[in-house]
Amino acid sequence: MNHNDFFDAGKETLGRAGLESYQQTRLQEMLNVVLRENPFYRKKLVVAGQTPTAGDLQELPFTMKSELLADAADHPPYGSNLTFSPEKYVRLHQTSGTKGRPLVVLDTAESWSAWKRCWAVIYRAAGLVPGDRIYVAFSFGLFAGFWAAYESAPDLGYRVIAGGGQSSVQRLHTIFEHEATVLLCTPSYALHLAEVAREERVNLASGPVRITLHAGEAGASIPATKSRIEESWGARCFDHIGASEVGPYGFECQAQPGGVHVNEMDYICEVIDPDTLQLKAPGEVGELVLTNLNRWGFPVIRYRTGDLVKLSEDEVCACGRTFRLLMGGIQARTDDMMTIRGVNVYPTALETVLRRFTEVAEFAGEVSKHSGMDELKLKVELEPAAEPLRLKAEIENELRQRLGLRIDVEMVLPGTLPRYELKARRFTRI
Ligand SMILES: [Zn+2]
Repeated sequence: MNHNDFFDAGKETLGRAGLESYQQTRLQEMLNVVLRENPFYRKKLVVAGQTPTAGDLQELPFTMKSELLADAADHPPYGSNLTFSPEKYVRLHQTSGTKGRPLVVLDTAESWSAWKRCWAVIYRAAGLVPGDRIYVAFSFGLFAGFWAAYESAPDLGYRVIAGGGQSSVQRLHTIFEHEATVLLCTPSYALHLAEVAREERVNLASGPVRITLHAGEAGASIPATKSRIEESWGARCFDHIGASEVGPYGFECQAQPGGVHVNEMDYICEVIDPDTLQLKAPGEVGELVLTNLNRWGFPVIRYRTGDLVKLSEDEVCACGRTFRLLMGGIQARTDDMMTIRGVNVYPTALETVLRRFTEVAEFAGEVSKHSGMDELKLKVELEPAAEPLRLKAEIENELRQRLGLRIDVEMVLPGTLPRYELKARRFTRI
């Protein structure tokens, strides 16, 4: 165990009982303030004058994103999930809006510091050291995205380079010119930059980047995608999970045990059956529910993330942390499921198969409903030198073997499918 790899070694290695007691204390401190001052949660949780306590957490109702959006519509523009007076809020961001109307989230100076602290945990766990130079391939705008990552880096002694407003070619030049050692972007965009590098005859694997850190999509936890990023960049690839409503809660450590740790200093995680709402045991797939303990200005209590995960058993990771792991990262989104001829299929399962083929440059799917059944049209774009006929047969065969489904693959010409800088939307319902 290298102590430089921890931000708060004491808490990151606390035993389960110590961790839970710490969480309970922090939750109670938060509830004391939130249930007194926050109109949204006061109305939702204080029933008939009865104020719940930290010990009641599992009896409290869940919070849905749709509730926060409805609340924002009822109390425009910021909703009533605000614990402090308006002048205390110094940051305004919003969700990516890839699925529907974006939700505006406000942060106080204190809650923003907590976001930055969470990033310190993420960076240290991935093995960054002072002197590292981070290139953030991200167009900084309203989306919360990598803002906290950008702002927390200098406090830790890393030099940070903002890659907004640059083309992919310019980004590659900047990475080489300023010898960036760390790349932050979505997994899709890391692969896209690798594609551009090949076209530009730039050898990324011999370049300066040694760590790539990804968010926004499941890719960095999908083994075939991870190894493809690592081979292209000659770097180690790390997954990170966050959401604007919750904050940056998940990180991968250097032991890479096949899962993403939940930062349990700052978040309480539960996994539930999305239909029965009962708690799932470790090892069972269910929906991740998070309570943040660090964002009193815009708290979420028992927030249903819509992400399907599998929690690890209670054991110590080889990195020394006791924080639980989401095995395989986010497995899927509850609303991404397709049912094709009676078989449930998630986009991550398709990506797992397709990324095994190094000749596959990009892919996209159109899902339509016919007589109540989902039908999938899968388009695959190959690298220019690949053989379409042979690969069509091989990919269809692999899909049949892995998913038990006959899926017709349409091969499309190089350069025809969209590339993504933000969250990729490869599967659309029509
Ligand atoms: Zn670990």
